[in-house]
This record gives sequence, C-alpha cells and structure tokens, in this order.
Amino acid sequence: MDKGIFLCSISNVSSGNCSEDCGYCTQSSHYHADIEKYKFKDADIVLKEARLLKEYGALGFCLVTAGRGLDDKKCEYIAKIAKMIKDDGLDLHIIACCGRADLDSLVYLKKNGVDSYNHNLETSKNFFPNICTTHPWNERFETCENALSAGLGLCSGGIFGLGESWGDRIELLKALQILSPHSTPINFFIQNPALPIKQQTLSREEALECVVLAREFLPKVRLMIAGGREVVFGRDQKALFDCGIDAVVLGNYLTAKGDAPQTDVDMIKSYGLSIASVCH
Ligand code: SF4
Repeated sequence: MDKGIFLCSISNVSSGNCSEDCGYCTQSSHYHADIEKYKFKDADIVLKEARLLKEYGALGFCLVTAGRGLDDKKCEYIAKIAKMIKDDGLDLHIIACCGRADLDSLVYLKKNGVDSYNHNLETSKNFFPNICTTHPWNERFETCENALSAGLGLCSGGIFGLGESWGDRIELLKALQILSPHSTPINFFIQNPALPIKQQTLSREEALECVVLAREFLPKVRLMIAGGREVVFGRDQKALFDCGIDAVVLGNYLTAKGDAPQTDVDMIKSYGLSIASVCH
C-alpha cells in the first residue's frame, strides 16, 4: 500500500558554539565556520515555523540544539516549546535532537509532548575516532538506548562520504539494526572550507548505493533523505525514491538552506508519489 512520502522539518533552535570536534559539522567551535550562532531561538518564532511547515504538509517537526548534550536548561526550553506546539493543536510529531541525554531528561521530555528523540550514530564504531575525538561512539549508542527506554520513538541514522569504507557503512547499519529505530536519516557529507574533512562529495551513483544498502539492512524503517540531497542529486531526485527513500527533510537544514518547501512538494508529486497524511 502506498503510504506516501513522510515530510519532516527541522528547526535549529540553538545554533553553533559547540564544544565538540565532529569534523563534518559547521557548528563545532573548533573550526570557526561562517554560520549564524545563537543561544535559544524565541519560542514564538519556533511556533510560527511549525505552523508554516505544517501548512506544506510536514508531519514531523524536529527541535535541534547544538552541543554535546541535553542539560537542565535545554531540557526545560525544549519541553516548553514542545508543549506550546502541542497546545496549539498542530498535531505534529515532535522530535527533539539535543545530543547525549540521560533517561530522566528523556522521560521529562516525553511527559511534556516530545514524541521521538533523534540521535545519529553517524558512522561505524571503528571509524568514529577519525571524525570526532571529544566524545566516544558508545555514548551515542547509549543515548539511543535511553530514548527507547524512555518510551520515545527513536530516529537514528548517519552520514556517508566522510572517508569511511563500505565495511564501515555495513557496521553502522548493523548497529542501527540492533537499535531498530522507527526512522533513519541518511546524510551525505558536504564540503565546507572551514572543516577538516576534505572528502569530495559522493557521486550520485555511490550515494544511491548507500541508500540501497540502508534499505536492505533496514527494510521496515522510515528511510529519510536529509543533508546533501540537493547537492548530490540536484533537482533529479526520483532515483532516491525508487531505491527506498520514503521520507524527506523539508525546508532548511541546520546551517544549510534547503529548497523552498513548495518546490520539494511539487517535485515529489511530479514523480507520481503522494505526500503522507498520517504518521506511519
Ligand atoms: S554534530 Fe553535534 S556534537 Fe558534533 S560538533 Fe556538531 S553540534 Fe556539536
């Protein structure tokens, strides 16, 4: 049965100045990338964004904060916004993405209207020290386990094109199989002169092979194409859906602009695909 393409949108509610040194991330304070930095976006602005993206058909709305983890202040702030969106009757699936998190904080978020937690494993355990030295891969895995223990939905995926081998990609997907997330974002690394990783962006063919592999390992997951979609595929994105993608990040990314939401919706429909109207 055609369930339609699930649309999810992101609000970068606290941007930049991150203490961590993830070599693919422009929000790290180690690399001084030219991005907008701010502490906590005004709650009314976030609510306006949620209303707008809902009008375009988004079912998911993800609140993202930069930084290693979820401290008390962030937890209160995210809970306040999640509750505000729910109270507005928007009927959006609220996802929080705030880095490392303990069980109590995640239970608190759930009580306040957060439905799922996003925390990406990013790459294989073995390759991870090549791209980040300030926290271990195990910490990421544990946070994903905490999200599941808190009764939250889990959204976890990774980024391809960091210089990892096909073996690393398989190890990442095997780890995701263990966690069994409901949703898996697939990102492709995009070069930025400030970043230490100098890999060329993946070719269209290799990126599609990554999608095929992910679908093979995670047959039931909602497979979401995220960062790098426009850079790798331009406006010719039908092959992504043919290879098993059934969810899309609509609108802007964390620090990179996406295509206009209506342009994406029109493109998806032009492929004969429908837009999902309920969370599946
Ligand atoms: S990926 Fe997250 S933890 Fe790593 S530098 Fe970026 S914001 Fe910080």
